[in-house]
Amino acid sequence: MIKRDCLTTEAALWSRDTGSKVLKQSTESELASKAVAYTMASGSTEPEPAGMLVPKRNCTSAVWEYFGFKRDDVAQSQVLCKTCLGRVSTSRGNTTNLYQHLKTQHKTEYDRCMAKKSSSVLRHMNALQNGTWKSPKQLTHCIAKDMMPVNTVTKPGFNNLVTTLDKRYRMPSRTYFSQTAIPELHMQCRRRVAAELKAVEFFAATTDMWSSRTAEPYQSLTVHYITEDLHLEARSLQTAYFPEDHTGENIAAGLREGLACWDLPEDNLVCITTDNASNMVKAAQLNEWTRLQCFGHRLHLAIGKLLP
Ligand SMILES: [Zn+2]
Repeated sequence: MIKRDCLTTEAALWSRDTGSKVLKQSTESELASKAVAYTMASGSTEPEPAGMLVPKRNCTSAVWEYFGFKRDDVAQSQVLCKTCLGRVSTSRGNTTNLYQHLKTQHKTEYDRCMAKKSSSVLRHMNALQNGTWKSPKQLTHCIAKDMMPVNTVTKPGFNNLVTTLDKRYRMPSRTYFSQTAIPELHMQCRRRVAAELKAVEFFAATTDMWSSRTAEPYQSLTVHYITEDLHLEARSLQTAYFPEDHTGENIAAGLREGLACWDLPEDNLVCITTDNASNMVKAAQLNEWTRLQCFGHRLHLAIGKLLP
């Protein structure tokens, strides 16, 4: 099976970075001892784990209430969950992995956070009904589908184009798109893909490691399956931020988390297609998954060797 470009499918547009890269997952019984260990290590006498962490600076999203940083982490580089003290990988201010962590690890906190979030969505809905602005749905879709920078909506040329098409249009703020409209669209798309996957029994997967233009590392995960009416489908589930060392062990764990995140049972994974990198081969071995070598990758290597 030839590896697909994971960023070309629609699902990829909405599902990028959704993988919850939880480095430490704890059972309830582990939490108390972890909190004690943390207290001892940091010299703090506060008994509450949440009290040990300092909040993120300059944040607007409600989800940050559930995460913080160690006091000595001045650069605020390592996000810690206030509930389990587990480390959560996230790309700068991106909150997708934070929501994902709450959703998969702390249902009560997640529900509380989403209730707060939906009340802010309600405010936006009221604004819509009051005619403060016209529905920005298509514009949100356009930003996501074409992977446009969100600040496009602040550019004078773009605003000029939009008001030429419709003089009455009031452009919502950039923050509205980045913090409300696009995350909502992402959740909608995620729910739709998750519902599709519920009907899938057996599936194959492809994965690879990628780097963004700013050299940030990502791990992609795509699944392939045949529908009841015999159509071959592929869904690029996630391109998750992957700052850990690219060892076989870490890659194996990342892939297992990826499948778990989408409720896909490992036992129903028929095979996984990867390149021939030794860490990928090892990851498949560690997970005891059947691995197929990527034909496209091998063809590319063969042509490269033949050409002078
Ligand atoms: Zn947690």
